[in-house]
Amino acid sequence: MFCVKCGKEERTYDSLCSSCYLQSNRFTQLPDHLDLQQCAHCDDYLMDKRWSHYDNELDAIYDHVAAHLLVRKDAIVRDLDIEAEEIDRKSYRVHVVATLAHEDLEAVEETETIVRVKRNVCPKCNKIQGNYYESIVQVRPTGKRFSDDEREDILRRATSYINAASKESRDAFMAKAMQAHGGYDLYISTIALGKTLARELVSMYGAEYKESSSLQGRKDGMDIYRVTYLVRLPPYRVRDIVEIDGKLYLVHSTGPQSAKLRNLKHGDNLTVSNDHLRDVKVIGTKDDVMEAVVLGEGRRELQLMHPVSFATIEVRKPQGFERTGDAVKVFLHEGEVYIIGN
Ligand SMILES: [Zn+2]
Ligand SMILES: [Zn+2]
Repeated sequence: MFCVKCGKEERTYDSLCSSCYLQSNRFTQLPDHLDLQQCAHCDDYLMDKRWSHYDNELDAIYDHVAAHLLVRKDAIVRDLDIEAEEIDRKSYRVHVVATLAHEDLEAVEETETIVRVKRNVCPKCNKIQGNYYESIVQVRPTGKRFSDDEREDILRRATSYINAASKESRDAFMAKAMQAHGGYDLYISTIALGKTLARELVSMYGAEYKESSSLQGRKDGMDIYRVTYLVRLPPYRVRDIVEIDGKLYLVHSTGPQSAKLRNLKHGDNLTVSNDHLRDVKVIGTKDDVMEAVVLGEGRRELQLMHPVSFATIEVRKPQGFERTGDAVKVFLHEGEVYIIGN
């Protein structure tokens, strides 16, 4: 076949030889400028109708440009080389080199565009700004049992739980956290997330849990409910010492249904349902535990130096206890010394 333009004899494309064809055809096109929306609050970028997080703005620019590169249907992109140069704050000159295949031809084309990053507000931040929430998780102590440390700890756990969920879904967020009645009111974006957060806290602390809902109004013909989850933490925590029927126990672990306790005198374990522990008497915390120097050891007992009176005393070893150091942890209560552990 002859090229109708230059007369060369070779395979033709639309009656043109390969070089004439490539000279008079273009496969790629970019608008001369592109706007990229970025949320002014969370810094996410709007990429093809979805808000996404990018650690590096240039990566967002590359993806945005690649998504807007128009490619003729009869060509296949083999490779894209995109480079961006900042021209002033939040605007970039972007250079694209595209390697394309058309039938058995390879074309390399260069295009350029300007990308301007525009400040916007994403729907999620818009909701947060508008104080939007569907559920409240109320975390409450029993009595006046929250220390500042513990209250911070609860907020930290709740926040990290919500942060992990928000990585999975943009609908998941905590609108605000307010101190209330010695605990917290956590305002949560959805009912489902409020419920799973409440359950997480119940499971972690062996807390009691109640839910109630109230009708907030109607929207688009649907009743709008707001659900409140009350999470009442028990009076005890892991490592606390509690008294049941005159005997002392160390709280070994807590769970959604029950807690594991260890008899301080004998060392045997006991599982008690959370319901039975609601009003349990806490007589010590990990801050009340002292160290006692070991002076000697028998098969069944330890000789210790009393941490307060410095007298030599003998304490029976709890079942299964094996000493590992020169001192043991003890708890003093009503003239008795209990071995807690190493
Ligand atoms: Zn030709
Ligand atoms: Zn945002």
